[in-house]
Amino acid sequence: MTAVAVYVHIPFCPSKCGYCDFNSYAMTGEIVERTARAIAQEIRQSPWRGRPAKTIFFGGGTPTYLSESQLIPIIEAVLETHPPTADCEFTSEANPGTVDMPKFAAMRRAGVNRISLGAQSFARQDLIRLGRVHQAPEIVRAVGVAREAGFDEINLDLMFGLPGQSMAGWERNLEIALSLGPTHLSLYGLTIEPNTRYYKLHLRGMLDLPTEDVHVAMYDRAMDAAEAAGLQQYEISNFARPGSQCQHNLAYWRGEEYLGYGPGAVGCFQEDGRRHRYTVLKHPERYCQAIEQGTGLWFDEEWLDEDDLRLEELMLGLRLNEGLSPTIALAERGLKKVLDRGWVEQMDNRLRLTRSGRHFCSEVAAELA
Ligand code: SF4
Repeated sequence: MTAVAVYVHIPFCPSKCGYCDFNSYAMTGEIVERTARAIAQEIRQSPWRGRPAKTIFFGGGTPTYLSESQLIPIIEAVLETHPPTADCEFTSEANPGTVDMPKFAAMRRAGVNRISLGAQSFARQDLIRLGRVHQAPEIVRAVGVAREAGFDEINLDLMFGLPGQSMAGWERNLEIALSLGPTHLSLYGLTIEPNTRYYKLHLRGMLDLPTEDVHVAMYDRAMDAAEAAGLQQYEISNFARPGSQCQHNLAYWRGEEYLGYGPGAVGCFQEDGRRHRYTVLKHPERYCQAIEQGTGLWFDEEWLDEDDLRLEELMLGLRLNEGLSPTIALAERGLKKVLDRGWVEQMDNRLRLTRSGRHFCSEVAAELA
């Protein structure tokens, strides 16, 4: 059996951030305990039991919102159901306000070998406006504790283009983040998504967002700062020391199979020569009921045809610095247009975005499709 990427979704957070449209719930008490048990049960009943894991990723939500006694059984269920390959990358997302030495040490002992910390900013006002539950000293402390617990691979997530954020504020964030010596950096521009508190504020004109020019300049500055610190860009938003690229996310971007467990998780697997994608029930209560009553767990599923796959390969492959597979069919007129504009270049027989083209990834994908 070929090894596969495995994702586990933990759908709880201490509170809901204003910009967040992920499947996460600020819940406490019995539902959290019930959901943790249900996730472990879902994994143990997996139809793909025995298929080795080449990467495992616990995301959310906030996986470290769970207590050790809730989280470790889920980790054990994954490792027993999907025996890890010798070099299996096992990441857990963590939020600085929800970790301490005993929890990190228990996760490391259980098999997690990479931590992704949702830092987002080191500025007090940014963190308050975002609705985060931590402050800068907790990020610094969390990095130190993660190292002490034995994690060599540490990612920091940072956001730019935040309300009220200046270029100087963004530069300061980059400087502090890089001074902590992470092996990986994920840098995301804020996007305003429907069904979020930020969306309502934005409609009322109450979000003081940087202009588009400043947003673009912030991204350029981030690319320069990361590269200068020895973190090479390998994807539009991701930078890593050599050998520290996130293998799990690379599997997504390269269009490989992945399995998803937990409320709202998405999986995509090959069956009868075709790709099948499913989404697990999102709400923890409905998810738990389905597990407890043994009823259907997927609320959405689709078979992907050739056109769907080509479009996805195009959109995801363009995000990578390694560029598109040479086998993918491209629209000739569109290709000429984006080449003329200097947004793409040919490199080792692969088409990839240029530095300026990274600002126009969606536009390039639309032209090439
Ligand atoms: S911590 Fe992450 S998943 Fe949780 S509410 Fe905030 S942005 Fe959403």
